[in-house]
Order: sequence, then C-alpha cells, then structure tokens
Amino acid sequence: MQKKFWEQMKNKALLKKVAAEEEVFWLNENLENAKTALSKLNLSMSDIEDAEKRLARFAPFIKKCFPETEVNNGLIESPLTEIPNMKKQLEKKYQISIAGKLLVKQDSHLAISGSIKARGGIYEVLKHAEDLALEHGKISITDDYSKFASEEMKTFFSQFKIQVGSTGNLGMSIGIMSAALGFHVIVHMSADAKQWKKDLLRQRGAVVVEYADDYSKAVEVGRKQSDADPKSYFVDDENSVTLFLGYAVAAKRLKAQFTQKGISIDQTHPLFVYIPCGVGGAPGGVTFGLKQIFGDNVHVFFVETTPAPCMLLGMASGMQNKVCVQDFGLSGQTHADGLAVGRPSGFVGGVMTNILSGEMTLKDRRIYDFMRDIVNTENIFLEPSACASFMGVVDLFQCEEGKQYIQKHGISMENSVHIAWATGGSLVPEEIRKEYMNTYL
Ligand SMILES: *Cc1c(COP(=O)(O)O)cnc(C)c1O
Repeated sequence: MQKKFWEQMKNKALLKKVAAEEEVFWLNENLENAKTALSKLNLSMSDIEDAEKRLARFAPFIKKCFPETEVNNGLIESPLTEIPNMKKQLEKKYQISIAGKLLVKQDSHLAISGSIKARGGIYEVLKHAEDLALEHGKISITDDYSKFASEEMKTFFSQFKIQVGSTGNLGMSIGIMSAALGFHVIVHMSADAKQWKKDLLRQRGAVVVEYADDYSKAVEVGRKQSDADPKSYFVDDENSVTLFLGYAVAAKRLKAQFTQKGISIDQTHPLFVYIPCGVGGAPGGVTFGLKQIFGDNVHVFFVETTPAPCMLLGMASGMQNKVCVQDFGLSGQTHADGLAVGRPSGFVGGVMTNILSGEMTLKDRRIYDFMRDIVNTENIFLEPSACASFMGVVDLFQCEEGKQYIQKHGISMENSVHIAWATGGSLVPEEIRKEYMNTYL
C-alpha cells in the first residue's frame, strides 16, 4: 500500500518532509494570473455582494441583540492595526528585514464570538433564518430586520434545529447566534475543543455534545443526526458555500479600511496576506474575496502547524480531500486547536488550486513564542492558532522559497503591505491566557 500510495502523489520530496514533521514552505506551482483563475470558478463577485447585502439587512437585528456592535452599526468587523514594534521584534529575532508595513487583522476581536468564525458561521445562521422566515411568510426582504429580535420570531425558530461539528470557534459562532435567534442548537465538539468554550456555549443555551475523537468524527455524527431530522439544518464546515461567502465579505471590508487609512494596493504596493488554515473555509473564503478585489496585486499564503497540515497535503499532493494527515503518519494533534483538522475541504482546495500562492508550516512551540512576542511588543493578545500567521511573513523573508517567489513574479517589495490575519483570541479567559503565556514546548 505504501508504495502505491506515494506513486499517486505530486511533490513527493516536499511531502516526505511534511510527513517527517519538518517545517516547509510550499509554493503553488498551479498559481495563475487572477483573471484567468477566477474566470474558471462558479462563484463570482456578485455572490460576495449578495452576502454583503444580507449582512447589511441583518445589521439592525445584530445591533439590537448585541449592543457591542453598536459602534459599527450592527456590522461585525475587526480593526486593522499596524504593528511596527512586532515588526522590529521579528526582524531582530529572525535576522530578517521585512520590507514595507506589517499589520495585523484583528479578527481575534470580532464582536459576538471573538474569532474569524464570526464572519462565516454567523452569516450562515442568518441566511438560514432568513430563508425560513421568507419561506413561512414571516418577513419580507424590505422589512426592518430588527423584527428578528421579537418574541414571536423566537417562538417561530424554536421549532427548528441547527447542528454543527466544531473544534471550538465555529461552534461558538453558530451556537451563540442560533440561540439568540431562538433556534434549538446542538454543537458537536471534537476532543480538541477547550472546556471554556463548551462552558460558554452551554451558558448561552446551546446543547454541547462531546466526542473523544477528532473533528471529522464530530462532523460525521452531527451530520448523520441532523440529516435524520427534517427540521434540523446542518452547517457543513467542509462543503458550505454559504460559510465561504460569509468569510469572503472580509475582503470588501478590508478594502474600505485601506481607503480610510490612506493605504493603496497596486503593482508598486503589493499586498501579502498570511492566514492560519484548518479545514480551509475561513482562509479560503477570505482569499477568494481578496483575489476578486486586488487580483494579481495580492499574494495569499496559508499557514498550518506541522502535526496537522491537512490543506498543504491535499494541495501539494494534488489529492485534495482524498488524503488526510493520518495517511502520512501524522497525528493531527496540535496546540493550535482551531487548526486541528485532519482532512481538508475538497471544495475549498478546488477553489484555491489556481489562486493560492503557497503554504508555510510551523512547529507548535513557535505559536507560543509569537504569542509572547505580540503581547510584549504591541499588547495584543491572540490565541495560539492565530499566531501561526506570523510564520508567514517570517518565512517569506527568511526562506529561499520566499525570495524565489518574489523574483519569479517580479514583485517590487519596497512598499509592500503584509497582513498577519489574527483569527481568534479575545474571548480567551484570563487564567487560560496566563497558562498559554507560560507554555514552552
Ligand atoms: C477556524 C479557525 C481557523 C481556520 O479556519 P478553517 O475554516 O478551519 O480553515 C484559524 N484560526 C482560528 C482561531 C480558527 O478558529
């Protein structure tokens, strides 16, 4: 089996390193110019605009239910922050020189659920609620959606179930928003999910089912139970186009933030974005949106940890979701709990084939080092998974592959803009933060 298994693979030499838990930097040999690549896809800018409009319709409801969103008028959006001290720290520590600006996109501080899942997860729940309400004549699309906060609507939704499998953060987003709308919500949590996330969800009224297995098992059982119940809706993290489009809206919001800050992205001001990846939906959706907006002037890299590099294995081997990390002898068990996924999304892998620039991996111990670095230099706390993003910018400037990429594409780096996409962290309780800050592997 072993020999035959390897015969089907592309990039064997690289994959052998990945299987040996070495850190790697893979450049996507299938990257194409944005226009050609995007024209092959079934999704387009109008799908993102549709999602953006739906979120705008729900803004009055969100504002009413979650007062912390009032400052943004009911839009769930995160700060984009320049981090010059972290930049200096990385330059010193890794003996590199980072051209241009380094910023952090603080999805860690998104309202309601404190992670990037507040984009896709919440969007999917809202879309499902809207579909049901329209179908049953409870609302029309031109109504003021603050109606969704009424007792009448809550009673209506209480006859329906929403279920999801999660390593933690997706469950939090789906659970909190579903419960707020009045749905009966069941979150199937993998063994990696942290206790405080389960506690918080139960406190909000969600039912949490715990599994001793990994994420794939939680998803499998959750899906089965949901499919058996006609009034239950399953949020499918591996295949959901809705989730994906909710994430993609981030790119439009980012563009507006650049404009506000007077940052332009063009050929002489290229944008580099580094996003931690689990099953692929969140980073994939954001990437799709970014390529739609910035085209060839944006270069997106995913980052995974060495015990669970599922998307890298799927993309670099060309096998997508036909392979999982266990096939390569890897455990899938990583301290980056949000990235603890063994099998990538085949749907996302397909969409990324010609638009993703590449992927980096890092050892678990480094996420805690990056975490301490950004707390100490910028006083920003991020959860371990989110800190993987910093490996992206370090590798671009420290590795041969990074130099090759810049040279091959003739990129002018002087005024480049680098974004570490910080995918979660603001809800982590104080005592757990302390524990993380004192973790040395
Ligand atoms: C979910 C998650 C990711 C990755 O998103 P996927 O859709 O699983 O790829 C990254 N970071 C954090 C903190 C997450 O919760």
